[in-house]
Amino acid sequence: MSISNTVRESLTRSSWIRKMFEEGDQLRRIHGAENVYDFTLGNPDLEPPASFKERLRELANHPVPGMHKYMSNAGYPESRAAVAAYLGRKTGLDLTANHVVMTVGAGGGLNVAFKTLLNPGDEVIVNAPYFVEYGFYAQNHQAKLTVVPSRPDFQIDTDAVAAAITDRTKIILINSPNNPTGVVYTEATLRKLAEVIKKKEAELGITIYLVSDEPYSGLVYDGVTVPSILKIFEHSLLVTSHSKDLALPGERIGYVALSPANPEPGLLFDGLVFANRVLGYVNAPALMQRIVAELQGEVVGVEVYQERRDLLYNHLTGIGFDVVKPQGAFYLFPKSPIPDDVAFIQAAVKYNILLVPGTGFGCPGYFRIAYCVSRETIVGSLPYFTKLAEEFGL
Ligand code: PLP
Repeated sequence: MSISNTVRESLTRSSWIRKMFEEGDQLRRIHGAENVYDFTLGNPDLEPPASFKERLRELANHPVPGMHKYMSNAGYPESRAAVAAYLGRKTGLDLTANHVVMTVGAGGGLNVAFKTLLNPGDEVIVNAPYFVEYGFYAQNHQAKLTVVPSRPDFQIDTDAVAAAITDRTKIILINSPNNPTGVVYTEATLRKLAEVIKKKEAELGITIYLVSDEPYSGLVYDGVTVPSILKIFEHSLLVTSHSKDLALPGERIGYVALSPANPEPGLLFDGLVFANRVLGYVNAPALMQRIVAELQGEVVGVEVYQERRDLLYNHLTGIGFDVVKPQGAFYLFPKSPIPDDVAFIQAAVKYNILLVPGTGFGCPGYFRIAYCVSRETIVGSLPYFTKLAEEFGL
């Protein structure tokens, strides 16, 4: 068959998340859905907030003429201004609509940022564990992904990042709150990272962009806040979406925001808008742009997710698992009791528990639990996690 070699090769490296989800389908057919504890997918089980549905109804009942037409490739000026105003309130920065491009989710936003910044052969540094799609996104733009391990507490190892920077490094890609660890990078870590980058930029005579992927930034617990990268580093881009905070992953709405301190904001903005167009996204979904403009800052389910985190975290640590307590997103990333994380998650299948191995995130020896599932699923799974722990002598 005449598909590209790159795509053919990528297909053989099929995602662990998909693989385990498909295994779950089979188990559900055999045992019934209520007896399968599927923690594989990062797909919010909650409904979007009532305000979303109200706004949708309003637009359906009172359509705005032309609301389904093309608009500027950057998105509606009013939506961009609403995002800029929200970010401005949050950070104290002077953002305008010209610092924001509406995108097709965070995935679309990352590809727009990558196309705008990367030359073939450039390097993108990520911290392991990392969202597996990053490798494919880098490949889309003929860039090389350089993977750097994180510290044991899953904060960025800034010395390791410094050591990985070369004269071809163009982007350092970070993700906080993190998928799969749920860890939120501290302000001290981010300031240290900015320092390291500046030093290397001066040493090598290059410009490096810090791209911060933050679709989970609304989902934070214990009073934690996500420090603003736009304030910390002038060559930074914030990429995010409403896939998780408003539970709208299927609606594909997000944005890229650039730091007002950027020395060439116009050129960067024009590049992002052009990339949005020629990657074939053209513009972010029109209806969603209108709706999310009015829902900036709203989040659905923080208390619900926090309660689920506590249920799982307390139980797992109580039965002997080693887990860094996550303060955001809806994932836990415990250490596998045996070095072979794939063998471990296969053992969990016996108890109808479906997990994703750390190997799927470039971090063997761990496993991921996505707790965007019902409370009943979590409560039902706890005795089986206990049996699993006993099997491995915890
Ligand atoms: N980045 C991370 C870390 C994610 O976990 C996800 C989705 O799970 C995305 C990006 C993609 O988000 P979106 O659905 O907004 O494209």
